[in-house]
Amino acid sequence: MIQSNPAERQVLVASGTMIGSVDEPEPVLSDDPIERRCAVRETRIRIHQARFRGRVVPAYPEQCAIWRLKEVRLLEAAHIVGDIEEAGEPIVSNGLALCSIHHRAYDQDLVGVSPDYDVCVSPRLLEDEDGPMLDLLKTFDRQPIYVPRRAEWKPDRERLASRFDRFLTRNAV
Ligand SMILES: [Zn+2]
Repeated sequence: MIQSNPAERQVLVASGTMIGSVDEPEPVLSDDPIERRCAVRETRIRIHQARFRGRVVPAYPEQCAIWRLKEVRLLEAAHIVGDIEEAGEPIVSNGLALCSIHHRAYDQDLVGVSPDYDVCVSPRLLEDEDGPMLDLLKTFDRQPIYVPRRAEWKPDRERLASRFDRFLTRNAV
């Protein structure tokens, strides 16, 4: 059974900034105590992201929820509700295993996932014409995502709903 670690979350909340795994900073080596503390904090965030990924990616099993890419080195764990929010626990049901490109698109609200487990591609992307990569992203619009079989690992519909509201607001659809 996976449980969140309250102490770990407290540190993350207190740090004030939370970043997606796509924006992982390089470790900073510095003699300045403030910079060093920052580096420690960033390392904690990296460890936290790595742990979250270690829970979510194998649950899927090891494929992108959107296009079933199975290259494990390209798979990441996307938070449905972000760490700094109340419901942002680092549990499998608050995550989606996504490949790098879908993770970035999800974080930017260019791709959404509805509470009914359907992909929703942002109208901005659908209207764009920018070659085969974008065409590939568009083909998953209104397609169901892949979800883990175990009930406790499936993406939580309430969390998806609150996140999907943000997607709809930001895309004004
Ligand atoms: Zn993907």
